[in-house]
Formats: sequence, C-alpha cells, structure tokens
Amino acid sequence: MLDPTRSNDTKIVAVVNQKGGVGKTTTTINLAAAMVAEGKRVLMIDLDPQGNASTGMGIGADARELTTYELLLEDIDLREVIQETQTKNLMIVPATVDLSSADIELMANEKRSFLLHDALRQPMMDEFHFDYILIDCPPSLNLLTVNAMVAAHSVLVPLQSEFFALEGLSQLMLTIREVRQTANPNLRIEGVVLTMFDARNNLSQQVENDARENLGDIVFQTKIPRNVRVSEAPSFAMPVLDYDPNSKGALAYGELAREVIKKNAKLKA
Ligand code: ADP
Ligand code: MG
Repeated sequence: MLDPTRSNDTKIVAVVNQKGGVGKTTTTINLAAAMVAEGKRVLMIDLDPQGNASTGMGIGADARELTTYELLLEDIDLREVIQETQTKNLMIVPATVDLSSADIELMANEKRSFLLHDALRQPMMDEFHFDYILIDCPPSLNLLTVNAMVAAHSVLVPLQSEFFALEGLSQLMLTIREVRQTANPNLRIEGVVLTMFDARNNLSQQVENDARENLGDIVFQTKIPRNVRVSEAPSFAMPVLDYDPNSKGALAYGELAREVIKKNAKLKA
C-alpha cells in the first residue's frame, strides 16, 4: 500500500559544480550514506559518464546493463534500473560511458531538458518511498547538468577549499538563474559546502572567509575536512561512513546530513 503521507515528499538535490575534482562524487556518496544513517531512504543518480559514484559504491561494469542512459532515453521500468547497494536503504542508478553520447542525443529530443524530470516523476517512483534523491553531476554545465537542475528541488554546490575556488561560481549561478527563468522557477540553492578543508592551511581559511563574505548563509556551517579515509573508501567500494565511521570525514558528512535534513524540515513547517 502506498503511504499517502510520504508520496510526493521526495526531495531531489543536484550536486553541481562544473569544475572537476572538487568533491561532487565524494559528497553525493557520503551525504547519501549519512542521510541513510539518519533514517532516510536515499537514491543516488549517477549522471556522470565517468561513473565514479557507481564504482565507488561497488557496482561493477557487469552490473551496469541498465543505467542512467536508459533512464533518460528509453521507456524503462524503474524497478529494473534502480539497484540496491551494500548499504541498506541506499539505492543507485549507475552510469557508464554511454552517457557521454546521451548529451548529444538529447539535443535532438524535443523534451531534452525535461527527460530526467519526467523519469523521476513517474507514478511508480512512489513505490520506493525515497526521502532524498541525490544526483551526481558531470564536471560541466552541459545538457546533463541542466537535466539535473530541471529535475531537482535544489542545488548543492561542493566548493574545494583551494585557490580559485570561487571562480566559476558566477557562471554556475547564471545557469541556475536561467533554469529558474525557464524550466524550474522553484529551484532553490540547498547550500554551498566547503570540501577538502585543511585547518592548518591559511588558504583554506581564506577561501572560507571569502565564501562566507560573498555568499552569506547559503554556505553550510559544516565543513568537510581533507581526510585520507574519505579518499580511501571508494577503493573499498563503500562510503566512508561504512569504511571508517569514526573518521573525521565520516563525522563531518554526518553533520552535513543533519544540517540538510534540518533545513528541509524547516521549509516544510
Ligand atoms: P568530483 O566528483 O567533483 O570530480 P571527487 O569527489 O571525485 O570530485 O573528488 C576528487 C578527488 O578528491 C578524489 O580523489 C577524492 O577521493 C578526493 N577527495 C574528495 N573529498 C576529499 C576529502 N574530504 N578528503 C580527501 N580527499 C578527498
Ligand atoms: Mg565526480
């Protein structure tokens, strides 16, 4: 039976930054796992042709027959494309390099910006009772990323605590504004999270000051520290919360999850 108190209550969050290597995939996996630890049911959508989120969750190449590509471009049963992971209540739609051609194939499609939006709003989605859907975007502001922004309720931006971190943010904000003006007027900014923060490094501190000064309270209080356990976890095919639950990285993602959940609870109230 469908529980009417929960259906349509799924929050869709796109994890976006057109720069590579800033912590999008790491944040998607570990925020998702941390939300699960808070009692939520979470789906990850791997929207990057590199498939790092899929690999990081231990979905091997042979288990990627049905992927985000089919979700976008074919009429497919959601139950076939959504896979369980080793972590209970954490599911994934994996990706392969096929997705790189989807970007071009999408161009020819009349509904090109709405494909992910429509796929995630099929009535069958209610059967899964997801509280959150996190979308791991590719390192670009291409049509795949636009699909994520059109499908999402909000955008979460990982910001690497490095020089030039804020560069490129204005381009990203411009894209968000365009999406709001056209396909998704209600798109919110969930927040900006500082990643790979190194408290011993003046530069990290300076990026934090700049971010808080320029972006104000959209910057999350939680900072994700640079932590070797975080970078090791994907090679063991698990979130850092499973790999080393007491590591600084795992604790920080736990904090971030609570901050996001609290924000959304306030919005609902
Ligand atoms: P993106 O998805 O934006 O390209 P990734 O999440 O793949 O970025 O992160 C880039 C690299 O940085 C990866 O090798 C990842 O393991 C590493 N990394 C990300 N966050 C942390 C962290 N908090 N501490 C240490 N290494 C990190
Ligand atoms: Mg990535």
